[in-house]
Formats: sequence, structure tokens, C-alpha cells
Amino acid sequence: MQHFPIFLDTAAARVVVTGGGDAAVAKLRLLLKTQARIEVFAPATLHGAAVDLASDIEDWASAGRLALHRRALVPCDLIGARLVYGAAEDAVDDARTRALGHRAGVLVNIVDNLSDSDFITPAIVDRDPVVVAIGTEGAAPVLARKIKADLEARLPAATGILARVAKTFRHAADALPMGRKRRDFWAQYYDTTGPRAFEQGGAPALQAALQDTLAQHLNGMADGPGHVDLVGAGPGDPDLLTLRARRLLDRADVVIHDRLIAPEVLELARREALMIAVGKEGFGPSTPQDTINQLMIDHATTGAHVVRLKGGDASVFGRLDEETEALDAAGIDWAVTPGITAASGAAAAVGQSLTRRGRNSSVRLVSGHDTKGFAEQDWQALARPGMVAAIYMGKRAARFIQGRLLMHGAAAETPVTIVENATRADQRVRLTTLAELPQAVADMAGPAVLLLGVTARNRSAKGATTPAAEITAMLQEALQ
Ligand code: SAH
Repeated sequence: MQHFPIFLDTAAARVVVTGGGDAAVAKLRLLLKTQARIEVFAPATLHGAAVDLASDIEDWASAGRLALHRRALVPCDLIGARLVYGAAEDAVDDARTRALGHRAGVLVNIVDNLSDSDFITPAIVDRDPVVVAIGTEGAAPVLARKIKADLEARLPAATGILARVAKTFRHAADALPMGRKRRDFWAQYYDTTGPRAFEQGGAPALQAALQDTLAQHLNGMADGPGHVDLVGAGPGDPDLLTLRARRLLDRADVVIHDRLIAPEVLELARREALMIAVGKEGFGPSTPQDTINQLMIDHATTGAHVVRLKGGDASVFGRLDEETEALDAAGIDWAVTPGITAASGAAAAVGQSLTRRGRNSSVRLVSGHDTKGFAEQDWQALARPGMVAAIYMGKRAARFIQGRLLMHGAAAETPVTIVENATRADQRVRLTTLAELPQAVADMAGPAVLLLGVTARNRSAKGATTPAAEITAMLQEALQ
């Protein structure tokens, strides 16, 4: 991140703009939304030639919304200024503004000139006091505009009013203890009671809605023991989370997550949530299951909302039962949110189906390991032609699996599609056969699913949707 976003207090700030044309007008339109004292320097002539002054600027000046000086900027004009915009649309004049700004220690923005600017003005979605700033560090202004349009559509116009009225109620809400209780109150106001009251009675109805919601929460303060949600995080791409998983992550007080969960997914948790990494990474040391169970129980007992975030789907090789049984024994309420399992992610990555009419009417989810070591299976069935199996945790067991299958009559040329880091940016697909399987997995460091009996089809240009591919597609679409 080269450009760090901050929100500048403009209440007592002086902001200087040089130039009197379209570029200056565009910047002034934004600046006039702020409380800054704005001064515009627009000389009547530049390099000896007369320059026109935009009528908007004249109008704003006569309405007293800005101070207009029909002369060039001089050093003392910048004393005490917070920001200066060079908007003269003239390289020499803007360079002079930049030099004067720097000499006075003022942050400079030269319009449409990223490299000469100390700061850039983001695209803005304005629901004052809720303001969303979107920046792409100059890389993709079209994309920024597209994101802005999406957010404009998504944030109801009432958002700002809800927030403004809420601000006047913050003291009253302090009657609720800090933390989850208070958050739940505000969440209910913003999600349901606030918008509903606004629809029915406009802004004046919001105070009453806040009072009712608060009374309800104060009365219910005694209840609400903790709760654990066991949530499948999918194979890696955050886009493959369910809407419910996102919502739960957004509310969680504590997130107990497998170490392998992609950082992009963890980012979606509430910033204040306590994040605890458990489980094991590759073949490294692991947290004992009893410790994980105890962590969930301890946090839930304090009344916290715990999300136990597991890779893929929690019910597939996820030790779900051990955790739910421990929660039951402790009398803690829990629920499971399904996720996309690695086999589904891998199949999607290669555009193949796990079952197929006329080929296989069943698919097996197989683990390369169990608690005793390499896992024994019904090898006879797995060796049958046309059989499809998704083998999890199969890298280390590859030679063992190969030996058992060949021994039970599987053809050496049985296709195997290996998908490593399925759905992640570093996804790799390797097509091999049973004969070559151990060599084919030898250099794979990431988690991999072995799709036995599946040949990857030749992918069309659309290909698997890795996050990177999606961004490229979005960009192309935006640029069309
Ligand atoms: N509950 C998980 C599986 C946990 S076991 C699920 O439903 O997907 C861990 C194994 O899952 C790994 O050894 C690997 O075989 C597989 N796996 C998990 N994420 C994967 C990914 N993104 N790509 C390929 N395999 C993955």
C-alpha cells in the first residue's frame, strides 16, 4: 500500500486551489462538500495570455462559498494551509505550485499527475457522515468508478441519516455494557429497526426506534449464553464462502480457525475479533483436539459468539463430531454452516463433474491417512474401472495408494487429476496416471486433492476462476 487512506478534519482547515478552469471546478465540487475554508488563485493571465474563469467559480465566490483571488499564488498565501491543489492545467504553473507547497510544508496534489502528488483524492461514496473512499493508487480509475457505482447502489440513501441520528444516541446506548451487547443493539438498529422506522416515519421516527430497541436490549440483558458456529470456510477463495459464513464472521467475538485458512478469508472477520489459530500446518505440530474443544467451551461460556472456522466443509475430514460432542457435553448451543469441500473446488477448477451418467453413479471421498497412519480402504471397489474418488491428504500416501490400487487390479493408465491449492491464486493442476502418481505429487507443497478416475478437460479461455483471473475479467469488463 503506497497510499495510506486517512480522513482529514477540514473543520478549521484552509485549502488552496490554483487554476480557474474545468480541473479546478471538478476539485472544488468535492471540496465544497467539506467544511474547509477554500481559497482559489486564478490569475487573469498566464504566460501573457488571458485565461477564462469558469462561471461556477465566480458563482461560488459571489455566494461566499470560497475566496477568489485573481492573481498568482505567492509564498505567503500558503502559510497555515493544510492542502494545496495545483489545478491550473499548465505544467509550468503546476510545478510552481508544487514547489511553493513543498517550501511551505503543505501537502500537494497536482491534478491528473500521480507522480508529482503527495496525496490523491479517492473516488467517494457520500452518505455523510458515512463516507467510503475508493483508491486504486492510480492503477485503475475505471475500476474505481465501477466499484463506486456498485456501492452507490448498495448503500441506501438513508444510511447517512441512520448514522447521524445514531450519533446523538451514543450516550444513551452506553447503558448497555461494552462489547457484544452493545454491538448487537447497534446491529439491530442498522439492520432492521432503523430502516423500518425510517421507511414508515422518516428521520423523526428514528429516535423512537432507538429508544424502543434499547429498552428491548436492556430488558433482555440477563439472557444470551454463548454460542458456537462451526463454519466451513471453503477451499480458499473468499468468494466461495456462503453468505451465512460471511455474516457469522462479521459478528464473531472469537474466531478459532484452522491454520490453513487463507488470509483473505480471515480478513473478513470483525477487526476486533480475537483470532486464534489451531490445528496443524502441513505435517507440522498440531493443537491437540482437547485443547481446541476447551478453547471453544471457555470462550462460549463467557457469553462470546464463537466461530469455529474450518477449511472446506466441516463435515468432511473435519473432526466435526469430536467438537460437537464436546460442546454438547458442556451444554453449549451450536450450529453447523456447510462449506464447499476441497473435492468440489477441485472439480470446478478442472471443469469436471464428480459423477457422470454412464461412467460413475457414486463418488468416494477418501482420506490418505487415518489416526493409525496410511488409511486402508475398500481397494477392490476403488480399483474398478470408471470409479471416481477424491483423495484428501493423499500426497504422502501416494505411493501406498498406488501400490494398493495396482495390486487390486486397477489399470496403470487410470487417469488422476491432481489439484493443488484449489481455487486459490496459486492453484496448480497436474494430469497424470496411476503409474506416475508418486512422482507427480513429489514437488507439491500446498494442500492437494487427487481426483482418481478424472481427466481434466481442455479448459476454454474462461478457465477456473482464481481470484487473479476474476480481477482481470472485471477489469476487461470495466474497460469495455
Ligand atoms: N474439511 C476439508 C478437508 C480437511 S482435510 C474440506 O472439506 O475440504 C485437509 C485436506 O483437504 C488436505 O490435505 C487436502 O487434501 C484437502 N484440501 C483442503 N483445501 C484444499 C485446497 N484448497 N486444494 C486442494 N486440496 C485441499
